[in-house]
Amino acid sequence: MGWMDQVPLWDHHCHALLKETERANLEALARCLTEAPGSYPLTDVKNSVVYREALAVAAQEMGIRPVEEELVPALEAVDYAAYCRNLFRTAGYRRLYVDTGYAPADSWSLAEMESILGLPIHAVLRLETVAEQLLGTTDRFDEWIGQFKATIAQARQAGYRGAKSIIAYRSGLDVKPVTAKTAEDRYAAMRRAGQSRLQDRDLLNYLLYQATPLLMAQNLPLQFHTGYGDPDTDLLKGNPLMLRAYLETFVPEGHQVVLLHTYPYQREAGYLTSVYPGVFADVSLAIPLAASGTRRILHELLELAPLSRVLFASDSHSRPESYYLGARAFKEAMNQFLDEAVSRHRVLPSVAEDWALMAGFRNTERLYGV
Ligand SMILES: [Zn+2]
Repeated sequence: MGWMDQVPLWDHHCHALLKETERANLEALARCLTEAPGSYPLTDVKNSVVYREALAVAAQEMGIRPVEEELVPALEAVDYAAYCRNLFRTAGYRRLYVDTGYAPADSWSLAEMESILGLPIHAVLRLETVAEQLLGTTDRFDEWIGQFKATIAQARQAGYRGAKSIIAYRSGLDVKPVTAKTAEDRYAAMRRAGQSRLQDRDLLNYLLYQATPLLMAQNLPLQFHTGYGDPDTDLLKGNPLMLRAYLETFVPEGHQVVLLHTYPYQREAGYLTSVYPGVFADVSLAIPLAASGTRRILHELLELAPLSRVLFASDSHSRPESYYLGARAFKEAMNQFLDEAVSRHRVLPSVAEDWALMAGFRNTERLYGV
C-alpha cells in the first residue's frame, strides 16, 4: 500500500480529450507524448519510454500485448467512452481544471467530457487568447483594452476558477510594467503590420499588469507557463526566477501565482514557493513525459517546496493513456518521497498522510475552489 493509493486526484491543469473518431489513432498518442513539432520524425517520437509505457497501459486495459498491430484493431472495437472513463477512474481522477486556450482539433467539449468521464470539470481562462479574440471586435486601443479588462473582471462570474498566461511562450518571463502610451504605440504598429497574433513584449506585459489586479479582486489564481514546452518557447526565458519583480509587486498584496511545468527549473520553482507566500508549483508535463526521471524531478521540486504548495497536474490532452500515466507517475513519485520522509527524516505517518491529501487535491481545492 502506498500513501497516495486511495487519494483522489484533482488535476489543476490539463486540456481536452480527442473524440471517439480518433480512438485508434496511435500517431495522436505518440504526438501527445512529446513537445516536438509535427515535422519531427514520428519514428523518433515512438522510440521513447513514455510512448511504450502508454502502449502498455492500453494493452493492459484490453488484455492484449502492447504492440501496435494488436492495439489498433482492439481500440477500433472497444467501447471508447467506457475505456476513457475507466482509465480516469482507476488512475484516481476526481476533478479537472481545463485550460480551454489549447484544445486539439476534434476534441470533446467540456460538457461532453464531463458527462463521458463522470467528473466535474472547471474552465481556466487564458489571458492572451482573450486579448487576441477581442482584436477582431474593434480598431481602437482604448476599446480593446476596455473589453479585455471587462472580460477578465467578469471571469469568476462567467464560471472560470483560474486564469493562465502564456507570456513565457510569446516574449519571456522577464516581465515589467509598461506605460499606456507605449502599449498604445505598440498596438498601432501591430495593427499597421496586420498582425493578429500577440507577440510584442510591451503589449503582452501591459496586458498582464492590467489583468493581475482584476484577478486579485476576484481571488482567482494565475497560472504561468514556465519551463518545458514546444520549440515555440525560448526555454532560456522560461525560467520562473525571471518573475521576481512581478512576484515582489503583487504577491505581498495577496496575488496567488501557480508555476506550471517548471522542468528543468523545478528546483528554482521549489525555491520560489519556499520564500514567497502565494506561490505554488507543479511538475506537470515532465510527469509523465520525462518517464525515467519523474521521481527525481518531483523530489527536486520538493527539496524546498512545502507540501502545502505543490499541486498535481498532468497537462495532458488528446489521449486518456496520457492522463493515466501522469497520475500513476505522480503517485509513485509521491509514495517514494513520503516513504523516505517517514523512514529517513522521522516525519510522523499521520503527517505524511496529510501531505498525501494536500498534494492530491487539498491544495488545489484551497487555491481554486469548486
Ligand atoms: Zn497546458
